[in-house]
Amino acid sequence: MLSFAGALPASAAAASAPSVGAAEASAGPRSGGAEFGQPNGRPSAAHPIATTFRIGRHTLTAGTAPKLAVRVDQRGVSRVTARVVFRPLKGSGGSVLTVPLGRIRTGRLLHPAWPSSAALKPGRYIVSLHASGPAGGQLLRRAKASGKAPLTVKAKPAPPAPKPPTTPPVVAPTTPVPDPGITNDGVFPVAGAHSFGGADARFGTGRTGHTHEGQDVLAAEGTPVVSPLAGIVVARDYQASAAGYYLTVDAADGRSFFFAHCQKDTFAVTVGQTIPAGQQLCRVGHTGDATGPHLHFEIWLGGWRRDKASHAIDPLAQLQAWDR
Ligand SMILES: [Zn+2]
Repeated sequence: MLSFAGALPASAAAASAPSVGAAEASAGPRSGGAEFGQPNGRPSAAHPIATTFRIGRHTLTAGTAPKLAVRVDQRGVSRVTARVVFRPLKGSGGSVLTVPLGRIRTGRLLHPAWPSSAALKPGRYIVSLHASGPAGGQLLRRAKASGKAPLTVKAKPAPPAPKPPTTPPVVAPTTPVPDPGITNDGVFPVAGAHSFGGADARFGTGRTGHTHEGQDVLAAEGTPVVSPLAGIVVARDYQASAAGYYLTVDAADGRSFFFAHCQKDTFAVTVGQTIPAGQQLCRVGHTGDATGPHLHFEIWLGGWRRDKASHAIDPLAQLQAWDR
């Protein structure tokens, strides 16, 4: 009976089990049907059983090997062929890995070496021991000797980020913006009676939300505004909240001049137009954010609001040089 018990279909083996008497059970080997009623862990003759199956820690970092501890028992059998299969849970990112253990001894606790070529990808796994005896009987799986274990393989932590340099990074020097300085050649931009107003009209005085970047030249509404130097008109627009009708001229010497609060409908030039010194641009007004008629005049180096390097300078000394 023993020799072919392993070949019995499970149902047939189960059917035969109740007929096995207690005396017979204690005296000798039981049939393959014992898996339905035999106490957990007792070795079977027809099938190997994983009396011990451990994988060390249940959480590993990728690149470290599980510490396998395996004991397989099968009555009357000295060696079984075994392998360990790592099967990833769906969606956990791992991939199936089979580690053959070869023909291993039964009846003793073994610590199979982890093959260096076997690499576990990060993921969550069910690890199962598979073993088959010489007659082909496969490993029995019981509640307390299931031959299975869970394993989580975590990704290797990223190497620590390089420390930020303790010295500040070298900032590429910005191209110095050439400043032609004050020139006496040129035409005062307001062609009529004017004054420079008080402290509030000065460059650098505070305004709500910004700093006054120009010099105000007070003059009667309608007084012609002219270009101090030859150049090109590069902007002509309207800004209700601040500059009103305004113009920008890039002078031939590299400076940019900004004229704001022009009277409505008095633009005398167009964008792109090349102009001589003294060219009328518009007339003094108080459009935009202006309490009374005046020319708001700015001088920019590096272009008018062209990039980070461009900036306004105090135009008063230049205005005074032209105002002779
Ligand atoms: Zn102003």
